[in-house]
Amino acid sequence: MILIKQAEVYCGRRSDFNGPQLTDVRCAGGRIVAIDKNLDPLDGEIVIEANGGALLPGLHDHHIHLMALTAAGQSLICGPPAVNSGEQLGNALQGCGGSGWIRGVAYHESVAGMLHRKQLDEWVVNRPLRIQHRSGKMWFVNSLAAKLLKLSENRHLDGIEVDDDNEPTGRLFRMDEWLRGQLNRAETLDVKATSSLLASFGVTSVTDATVNNNDATWNFYQKKIDSGEVLQRVLLMGDESLISIASGANWPLAETTKLLERGILKILLDDAALPDFYQLTQRIVRAHELQCAVAIHCVTTVELVFALAVCEEAGHFPGDRIEHGSVVDDSALEVLYRSGMTVVTQPNFIAERGDQYAIDVDTAQQPFLYRVKTLLDAGIPVGGSTDAPYGNPDPWCSINAAVHRKTPTGAKLGELECVSPEQALRLFTSPASNPGGPMVPTIMGAVADLCLLDRPWREARLRLQHEDVKMTVRGGEIIYRS
Ligand SMILES: [Zn+2]
Repeated sequence: MILIKQAEVYCGRRSDFNGPQLTDVRCAGGRIVAIDKNLDPLDGEIVIEANGGALLPGLHDHHIHLMALTAAGQSLICGPPAVNSGEQLGNALQGCGGSGWIRGVAYHESVAGMLHRKQLDEWVVNRPLRIQHRSGKMWFVNSLAAKLLKLSENRHLDGIEVDDDNEPTGRLFRMDEWLRGQLNRAETLDVKATSSLLASFGVTSVTDATVNNNDATWNFYQKKIDSGEVLQRVLLMGDESLISIASGANWPLAETTKLLERGILKILLDDAALPDFYQLTQRIVRAHELQCAVAIHCVTTVELVFALAVCEEAGHFPGDRIEHGSVVDDSALEVLYRSGMTVVTQPNFIAERGDQYAIDVDTAQQPFLYRVKTLLDAGIPVGGSTDAPYGNPDPWCSINAAVHRKTPTGAKLGELECVSPEQALRLFTSPASNPGGPMVPTIMGAVADLCLLDRPWREARLRLQHEDVKMTVRGGEIIYRS
């Protein structure tokens, strides 16, 4: 049991903090069991002095890749802003300690073009090396890695690029699942450190949006949650094997009380190789028949138009969502609104990659990048997420970016999309099952998933940073204390 003394209980509107009444909040049995001006501590109760700090609902990251984030923590950064040239990349790789595989992440072709196996050999020849493009779509491997992965024997596979002589170039497209099978690595990852890091940001639940999550992933998470290595509630998206066992039993999620949930089919689109319209429609219809929503990855205009057309054909189901919505032009707003779909977006990419977008993205399209305000004004539900490890896992960076829209060099990108701190916070405090929905209320009987700040909201809203998180509580258990 926990008793939080003298907190500002936040209900999601700025006005709630004008002359706030401080209250005490008691958590027991995983829920909030009392809220009152003055509660006396019970025997054995942990008492936390909030001293007027804001008590928020626990944050929910609506789109993250927990295992990839864990792997990234054990990887070398190979792209901007840390690494900006081939020379810097070579130095970083050659300075890499340890033995066995070198795993690089966050590569962008502005560093040294589309990497070729032989180019990588010039830097690392006696250790297997694989480098992931920051889009997550692609891996580059050196010759030793190509040999260990048996690329030559497998060159008939679609994602393994070959040159004119039918030799593998070392470029692998959308081959994560195959790669994972070849490497057999997931079990060795230290997910506990990742989960604790998220807890220190106030995150009490996450949606793992990895496309090839399956029933094995489900079992893996079950183990990691049981052992206490994963501290957050997890909602799993994934492939058909995952949703077929859901069979509608868990969806829609009325209230988040379970630690592990499933029930969303993740669909990747790649505008260079769009799937057959009819087949995708049938896939979505089947998911809906199983009471499962779909989440469609859309980072380009073409992907968005295609996704909206397919969903219109398949019919809509509550909980259907567009992931990223990286480019939503005005012409898509009306269709998006009518579809009732939620956009789960990442304003943090403006803060992390905004300067690169200003170079790479057509000027006319720049105002449409990672929009929030226009979508909200159009009545389209919007959820927030980090897409870590492709984005920074700190949700406060994303909340901050939604408010300020500043690029790394301090320029503003898409200024018309700026929202208030309260709107930005709401992106991360809606429930897992309803990313664009209202904030989870802190009321009697509610599940005790909470994030306590060390200062009142009127101060915190000007900072929006994870350093202000004083304590994180999931299901009435303290999972982080500063
Ligand atoms: Zn993602």
